[in-house]
Amino acid sequence: MKVEKSSQDLENEVIYAGLCIHCGSCNAFCPHMDFNQTTGEAFVVDECAETVGLCYNSCPRSFLPIKEIEQKLFGESRIDLGVGVYKDIIQVKAKNDDILHALVEAAFKEGVIECLVLGEPNGAKPAVSFPKIVYNAKDAKKLIPQKTMDNAGPLVTGIGQAYKEYKKNIGIIANPCHLQGLAKILVSDFNTGAEKTSLKIAFACSSGGMAGCKYCTDFSGEFSDISYSPWGAPKPEALLIIRTAVGQKVVDAAKKMKLIEVTNPNPDLSEMKKFLNKKRKKNFKTLLGKSLVRAKYLDFSYDELKDILEE
Ligand code: SF4
Ligand code: SF4
Repeated sequence: MKVEKSSQDLENEVIYAGLCIHCGSCNAFCPHMDFNQTTGEAFVVDECAETVGLCYNSCPRSFLPIKEIEQKLFGESRIDLGVGVYKDIIQVKAKNDDILHALVEAAFKEGVIECLVLGEPNGAKPAVSFPKIVYNAKDAKKLIPQKTMDNAGPLVTGIGQAYKEYKKNIGIIANPCHLQGLAKILVSDFNTGAEKTSLKIAFACSSGGMAGCKYCTDFSGEFSDISYSPWGAPKPEALLIIRTAVGQKVVDAAKKMKLIEVTNPNPDLSEMKKFLNKKRKKNFKTLLGKSLVRAKYLDFSYDELKDILEE
């Protein structure tokens, strides 16, 4: 999967078009891209001679072939349009009320990860976090995100940094958008180093605070190994959407170590889906804009077409 476009196209179609969500995918492995050290915004350092740019092909907002990515990552396509591919959804609580940290502790102890990329808020307003690599569960504790905005920033660059440190099993906790970019890099035909990523945990996101968030339709982190959703479960419990074998391995290890306990193996998903559907509906409308389809000489709006279809 490679598209013949590069950094100038990325600037015009994504960055200047207000679609960028500062995920850091474009500058994770490309020396011609960087991010602003205060705002986290991506920028082109120097125009390169590439016609097939890694930056453009890594960006979740340049194009996102969901079906192709799913086939390559999971070997199957989703049945649930809103949740994505998954093996199981369970409701859990943690011994210390910190479910994400329990998963991280289990992943380190089980040898699934040797380091973890987390966001470290820089205190700026609006909130921006920069990637921080930690090497044990104890150091991870103070950086475990409590909300999606704790992750807002170029976290995918942390994968590139860990790769440069010769790490082989790299974990990341990030927002759905970060993992869209990382998934594109993982399934691309570029040689990067992203394949050293061994665990991707998504923090489900009902809405973010960046301008580009209004075009986002991924609530749960569809390209993760495990998604963590505090939405749809009573506090301090959460839903875990387990998508892959490695996700299952970490959850099983956390259960065996008694770090987490399953409170409901078949939870009611209706509450979570309320948040999920609200976000998807609203942002699909923003994406579609005023003109939904052009049929020969006529433009149909979302509302017009809805009326026609419902007759
Ligand atoms: S990869 Fe992420 S940071 Fe880079 S332009 Fe795309 S959305 Fe913005
Ligand atoms: S809404 Fe959440 S997942 Fe979507 S782009 Fe914004 S921060 Fe990322």
